[in-house]
Amino acid sequence: MLIGSYSPALVLISLCVAILASYTALDLTGRIATARGRAVYLWMGGGAFAMGVGIWSMHFIGMLAVRLPIDLGYDIGITLLSLLIAILSSGFALWLVSQPRLPAWQWGFGALVMGAGIAAMHYTGMAALRMQPGIDYDPTLFGASLLIAVGASAAALWIAFHLRRNTPYVRLARGGASVVMGMAIVGMHYTGMAAARFADGSFCGAALDGLSGKGLDNLVLVTTLAVLCIALLTSVLDARLESRTAGLARSLTLANEELIQLALHDTLTGLPNRVLLADRIDQAMHVVQEQGGCFALMFIDLDGFKPVNDAFGHHMGDQLLREVGLRLREDLRSQDTLARIGGDEFVLLVHLGAPDDALRLAARQVGLISRAFRVAEHDLHISASVGIAVYPGNGQTPQELLMNADAAMYNAKGTGKNGYRFFDASMNSNARKQLQLLQDLRAAVELNQLRLHYQPKFDASNGRPVGAEALLRWEHPVHGLMPPDTFIELAEKTGLIIAIGDWVLNEACRQMRQWYLLGYTDWRIAVNLSALQFCHAGLVKSVASALLRHQLPANSLTLEITETTAMSDADASMTVLNELSQMGVDLSIDDFGTGYSSLMYLKRLPANELKIDRGFVRDLEHDSDDAAIVSAIVALGRALGLRIVAEGVETNLQQDFLTQLGCDSLQGYLLGRPLPAEGFMAEIVRAEQ
Ligand code: C2E
Ligand code: MG
Ligand code: MG
Repeated sequence: MLIGSYSPALVLISLCVAILASYTALDLTGRIATARGRAVYLWMGGGAFAMGVGIWSMHFIGMLAVRLPIDLGYDIGITLLSLLIAILSSGFALWLVSQPRLPAWQWGFGALVMGAGIAAMHYTGMAALRMQPGIDYDPTLFGASLLIAVGASAAALWIAFHLRRNTPYVRLARGGASVVMGMAIVGMHYTGMAAARFADGSFCGAALDGLSGKGLDNLVLVTTLAVLCIALLTSVLDARLESRTAGLARSLTLANEELIQLALHDTLTGLPNRVLLADRIDQAMHVVQEQGGCFALMFIDLDGFKPVNDAFGHHMGDQLLREVGLRLREDLRSQDTLARIGGDEFVLLVHLGAPDDALRLAARQVGLISRAFRVAEHDLHISASVGIAVYPGNGQTPQELLMNADAAMYNAKGTGKNGYRFFDASMNSNARKQLQLLQDLRAAVELNQLRLHYQPKFDASNGRPVGAEALLRWEHPVHGLMPPDTFIELAEKTGLIIAIGDWVLNEACRQMRQWYLLGYTDWRIAVNLSALQFCHAGLVKSVASALLRHQLPANSLTLEITETTAMSDADASMTVLNELSQMGVDLSIDDFGTGYSSLMYLKRLPANELKIDRGFVRDLEHDSDDAAIVSAIVALGRALGLRIVAEGVETNLQQDFLTQLGCDSLQGYLLGRPLPAEGFMAEIVRAEQ
């Protein structure tokens, strides 16, 4: 028997080639797994070629490593056939592991086919020697080589299938796996070689006309390395490109999502905004139309939010709104929507099992908000007014539903706040009326529909007139003469009060100038200011220019501010009041006794007059408490050096009592009702005669 020997260098090289081929194969399965469309087939074809060449050249170099004491050559046709078998089995393997799933039977079958392919390649390659007589194979080793081929294939398939996704450390894992796979392939090959026995006197039939000679190993090696390197390089570059593209696509998706989030959500609370809410209401309507059931729209408006915002600043206000949002969301279900649609306005869309559920939920939400909020070390107390519209029933369109819930909310606010109301049709007409009224009020100043009525004030001790209070009236073309409490609130809410207030100041000063010229130079004209005017930066200027225009001394004008207005933003009011006081304008605290009546604060105010609220005066005769309060206020005013005025004097008894207590001036229906200037003057003149 011919005894062969192995060239250790070539054996080592064959092992390296096997490992490199395995690595390339694993890398390519990764590319196939992430590729799309035609790229899959290109990668599979190219991969099969590279991997096939790699495995085949391992085997070929392995054969070249054997040295026999005879000349050897390789039949070109048969050798190319063995290469083709290697490429086909590689293609099959790549196709198999690029399937979405690899069930056990498919894996086992695949390992058999691939193992058979490798073995076929090997033994076909051996046949290319065309030995005479034929090679005799040791059955045990031959069997072992087949088993190793199938086993190695099974392992290779399993590894390739599981490492095809780009997981962390995938390169390291693939490196380790390719060493194992490379050794298995080499093991199969050399077991197969060991099985081969060459009889003495054999000669190689391909030595004459086949491939042979020096440098063949180098040629194969260089070609193989080139193929594998090109495959690997392409794969790596493509992976880079793909991950960059994927990165770009990802950031594009993120940017898109962010845009949608911004367009449909409120930035402060992150809650859905008006746009998204309208869409959700629309959807909910469709669901109800198709499947029945009902839902409620709850319009939630915070009571007392504005004072918090004014007193503590926007930063605190914002934080409070965020907390409110969180709390309202607390016991909502995922299918419900809580939206913020304006300053302190939230809307809740809830699907109801029964219409009654809305009642319980609204009560709970009102309760949630009435618990104190802890914001930046402060305990803030606010409440919520909730208006509820139910679908079906309270509107046909999302807008109508929302408007009706809003109208119900206004109703809840009007009837004491901190509660909820279900919508009913009468509220809607109220809301429409308010809207109409607002439009009319806008035009009222221009159309000259505002009037001032004057109510006299008298010296308590001698009964002589000391001036008048200017009281606003609106001569509405349809509703007739309207008292201030029917429209002042609306004017305040919409900011119209600034323009109206300026008109009042000017008109009152104009009238006072006429009386002044008639000789009533010691009279004072009193003008009421609302909170908003008081906060407005232009107030001091407006007052100064009205006085200047009508050539009135500053102390002919008394400005009446309610106690609550003066106290609500104490520091800011102090500045404005001081400026007015320095001009010489007379200041009066109106409706005294109904607000906080903080003595500390009162002491610091540059006021000249206290007006006892008519609520105390009304019950003076029957309620001893009120009598005590009035005498306390008088004593307090005296101590602070203030004039005391009592308003709402309707009976002689009240007049006597208040005079006895020491009030300086009196005002009320008993002494004179508010009248237009001419009527007012006629009364005065009559009294003087
Ligand atoms: P106020 O400043 O406390 O004005 C006194 C109110 O009591 C007036 O009502 C007056 O008609 C009424 N009154 C006077 N004597 C009696 C009486 O003996 N018995 C009763 N029951 N009432 C009496 P009016 O004119 O309806 O004004 C209501 C409120 O509207 C005023 O309360 C004032 O706060 C506000 N207001 C009036 N004019 C203006 C204005 O030009 N600007 C602003 N911002 N508010 C105004
Ligand atoms: Mg007043
Ligand atoms: Mg008053």
